[in-house]
Amino acid sequence: MSEPRTLVGLGVSGGIAIGKPIVVENRPLPVTLVQLPPDGVEAEVARLHRAATRAATRLAELASEATRTVGAEYGAIFEAQRLMLEDPAFLDEVERLIRTEAVNAEWALEQVTHRLVAQFEQLGDLYLRERRGDVLDVALELQRSLQGRAAAPIDFSGATSILIADDIPPSQALRLATRMVGGFASETGGLTSHTTIIAKSLGIPAVVGIPGLVREVERAGLVIVDGFEGHLIVDPDPALIQVYGLRAEEHRRRQHELLGLAHLPAATSDGRTMRLLANIDLVPEIAAAKAGGAQGIGLFRSEFLFIQASPELPNEDRQAAAYAELLAAFPSGPVTVRTFDLGGRKLAREMLGNPENNPVLGLRGVRLCLQKPDFFRTQLRALLRAAGQYPDALRIMVPLIGHVEEVKTVRVLLERYRVELRSEGIVVPDRVIVGVMIEVPAAAMIAEHLAREVDFFAIGTNDLTQYTLAVDRGNEQVSKLFRPFHPAVLRLVERVISVGARAGIPVSLCGEMAADPLAVPLLVGLGLTEFSMHPPALPLARSLIRAVSFREARRMAQRALALATAKEVEEYLLEQLSGLLSHLKVRILP
Ligand code: PEP
Ligand code: MG
Repeated sequence: MSEPRTLVGLGVSGGIAIGKPIVVENRPLPVTLVQLPPDGVEAEVARLHRAATRAATRLAELASEATRTVGAEYGAIFEAQRLMLEDPAFLDEVERLIRTEAVNAEWALEQVTHRLVAQFEQLGDLYLRERRGDVLDVALELQRSLQGRAAAPIDFSGATSILIADDIPPSQALRLATRMVGGFASETGGLTSHTTIIAKSLGIPAVVGIPGLVREVERAGLVIVDGFEGHLIVDPDPALIQVYGLRAEEHRRRQHELLGLAHLPAATSDGRTMRLLANIDLVPEIAAAKAGGAQGIGLFRSEFLFIQASPELPNEDRQAAAYAELLAAFPSGPVTVRTFDLGGRKLAREMLGNPENNPVLGLRGVRLCLQKPDFFRTQLRALLRAAGQYPDALRIMVPLIGHVEEVKTVRVLLERYRVELRSEGIVVPDRVIVGVMIEVPAAAMIAEHLAREVDFFAIGTNDLTQYTLAVDRGNEQVSKLFRPFHPAVLRLVERVISVGARAGIPVSLCGEMAADPLAVPLLVGLGLTEFSMHPPALPLARSLIRAVSFREARRMAQRALALATAKEVEEYLLEQLSGLLSHLKVRILP
């Protein structure tokens, strides 16, 4: 038996999971051009067809496995991809290139894929344009098969499987993690990358940023994910398995205890009341939000409807039904639906086809929606229809705002579709509640102007930190520089809270910071009264709020604001709160 080894990464979602590793390589290997001798062409074509047969078999297996375990709509994703592999337009073209140019199959496949993707990009029909993502997935599967790499095994065997990958794109995390894996570890990723956020929402322990992970785990029989310490233990011995088993049990007991306190008000010891809201990515997470005692939804990441519906686009009826379901669960609100925040790293490939040089600074969030009017119209109409039933509960929130004009344009569009729906005889309210995310430093700096245009602010510290500190939130190379406690970020947060208070509009904070035990008392002290976080974090936040007084918190916040570095702020808060945190048995993530 191999010796136990500990791989160190960044613990991004607390908890412990023990299980069998499922190793997935998502990054394509580089392809090089090989010029074939004339008599090598036939053998190469035969190799292509053998690889295609293997890839098709695998996609068929995936389709039936996914249908059986997670539902037909997931199975359909893989089935559509298998059919694409049988489409002569695809494979014949690769074969033709091998013959005419005497090149290796991998190279020919790459050329044909580039061409097809470019053609899809030109299509007028949005649905067809969106199929680029499937072309790329199919090409990757075939490339993998040609390169003789073990096909990514997808074993939907549930909580005892640990997903180990070089990179986990959010779409895969969602497909595989919908209650189907016990833990994650990946080579890429950071504290607030979207895959991390999904892991947290689902309460799945996760460690990211482990260099060389896939090679290290390839032959392991068992692994332990320690999301608290940021460790992945490979081939643990029986003693370690027992220790971690006990820790996992203790964590579950603690969560259970905290859930028992979900009915208590989230008020400081001197009586200042906070509103605790949930961040959710999927409609079924309503149950977890309720169990955690959420008083509403502070952030519904509607773009996940898009990921889930793929390869279909979520049409107006489907979207309106999803929003109505959220509203029915919290009829007096707030239910804050963020308009599609696609682009950047989220589904950029599917939305845009061609990669951007700087996607995080590119066509993302509201920018992308305003460039795709048909796509945006569907969502705004669906939202207005949902608001018809619950006008005071629905809050429409627009991401990545940097300019006042963007808000004005969204308002004009909402008004246009409101009139349009009325003329169709559909019930819509006279007025809808519209707010913006403050997640670009420019928005924080012009908050006074934005406040005149909107009904609420929601501070997105994940992006606000990224853009203020110029640190890519998903890049493990710079994850140590991603510091929400940096004085620059704190000053912007404080600024937005006080501008909101002066303008008389509510301000919430829905970045990961809202759930950070060190940040909760600080944010209370900065005057924040609405916190929104992934549901599993709600019980602890409630306990923290109840354990501090506003007076104390304000003193702490004032002192923290005067410090010069993120490290000083973190150390100061830790020192101030260590008694409280150990009393609440809180472990701080690094
Ligand atoms: C944020 O940026 O803080 C936020 C909540 O939005 P997202 O993490 O989805 O970008
Ligand atoms: Mg954001």
